[in-house]
Amino acid sequence: MGDDGRHMTPDEFRAHGRAVVDWIADYYERVGSLPVLSRAEPGDLRARLPDHPPSRGEPFDAVLADVDRLILPGITHWQSPNFFAFFPANTSFPSILGELLSAGLGVQGMLWATSPACTELEAHVLDWVAEMLDLPAAFRSDGPGGGVIQDSASGAVLCALIAARERATAGGSNERGCDGRLVAYASSHTHSSVEKAVKIAGLGRENLRLVAVDGRYAMRPDALDEAIRAYRAAGRIPAFVTATVGTTSSNALDPVAAIGRVCREHGVWLHVDAAMCGTAAVCPEFRYIHDGLELADSYCFNPHKWMFTNFDCDCFYVADRGALIRSLSVLPEYLKNRATESGAVTDYRDWQVPLGRRFRALKLWFVIRHYGVEGLRRHVRRHVELAQRFAGWVGEDDRFELAAPAPLNLVCFRHRGGDGVNQQILDRVNASGALYLTHTRLDDRLTLRLCVGQTHTELSHVAAAWDRIREAAG
Ligand SMILES: *Cc1c(COP(=O)(O)O)cnc(C)c1O
Repeated sequence: MGDDGRHMTPDEFRAHGRAVVDWIADYYERVGSLPVLSRAEPGDLRARLPDHPPSRGEPFDAVLADVDRLILPGITHWQSPNFFAFFPANTSFPSILGELLSAGLGVQGMLWATSPACTELEAHVLDWVAEMLDLPAAFRSDGPGGGVIQDSASGAVLCALIAARERATAGGSNERGCDGRLVAYASSHTHSSVEKAVKIAGLGRENLRLVAVDGRYAMRPDALDEAIRAYRAAGRIPAFVTATVGTTSSNALDPVAAIGRVCREHGVWLHVDAAMCGTAAVCPEFRYIHDGLELADSYCFNPHKWMFTNFDCDCFYVADRGALIRSLSVLPEYLKNRATESGAVTDYRDWQVPLGRRFRALKLWFVIRHYGVEGLRRHVRRHVELAQRFAGWVGEDDRFELAAPAPLNLVCFRHRGGDGVNQQILDRVNASGALYLTHTRLDDRLTLRLCVGQTHTELSHVAAAWDRIREAAG
């Protein structure tokens, strides 16, 4: 059994592969009954792993058995229908199968020439997605822009910022570095990935200005305009604004159209981050969240959050791919090839930070073909409806209140009794294992968040969560 270092044969792979697929199917049948939040203590797993790697190969069955014995206790079940924490990282069987095939093909799609189908399926599926969400025409590959799959929303905002940096300095920052004059803007509720990107891109954290928010935690365009004018008057170069469609903390929707007008007036790059909520636009009734998107230079959302596609898969679009490619392109001798030189193909290595890339479009293609656009709509609508039901129950209970508007699938709420009792609720429900909730702070008050988006979450799960929460308050 592999102890002599020989390869697994195709027949053995068939047998073990079936066992793994069965394992996954069984897992989904029981995941709803497992404690959602792992109860592992720091070091638990490492204490149980051998100090040294095996010198001889081990039977596959023993390895798989250890997944149950050793690994599962340290898993927090993101695919539990009782998972309501942070944001969903949902997946689906078609996505898992696409991921498996991607591993099986094992291609590295850095260039069109290194696997034409990898690049062309990606470009095509991203055009499909642009149509599904009714994104502005400029983001389609048949115009000056186009889409690419990034590892994450963090990777996307970094690429957008680097392209904006190049545009603002007419290519100078790539040659001579940043001189500390470029300024980026975000709201105080923008995701921390923007701060990270500002640090990596060399703007310097002091050059990230946080713009004030309104009573709904959305960026104030007037405050943005004022901040841009002030910096410009001081001889600085306002270069980049991130607007968020669905902030991580409270699902606030920044007013993209008004922000976009400010950006256009001042020639500032606008990036729109719709990491979780972008998926909602598959439903025509939620497309208002993208009003004004035609004023954006770049946009991203994560099918790996709410579109049933397993991590990692972020769809990133630019209105002008030239700016992005100029900022990231390098061409060493060993990558030169005829297809690239012909100019007729896309080489996605110029659209991202790493050189190499996985065949991620396959899983997204599988998801879209399995569900169809109507199927995706049905599930997204259902999640929103469940979150709205929950918000309704919170509103009807005198002991609780909504802490922010809940436009889609995230409900921010709190017990009126103050931080102590809210902390108690959080600790009790999470310790029970029956569900997993996380928190934020809004107006410096501890706030509970319930986010609906796991593939198999149903009314019964949300209702049971509400029962537990009320019980935990008592
Ligand atoms: C989750 C989230 C991110 C980060 O997503 P990654 O893909 O993990 O980098 C960024 N922005 C918003 C608004 C988010 O909700």
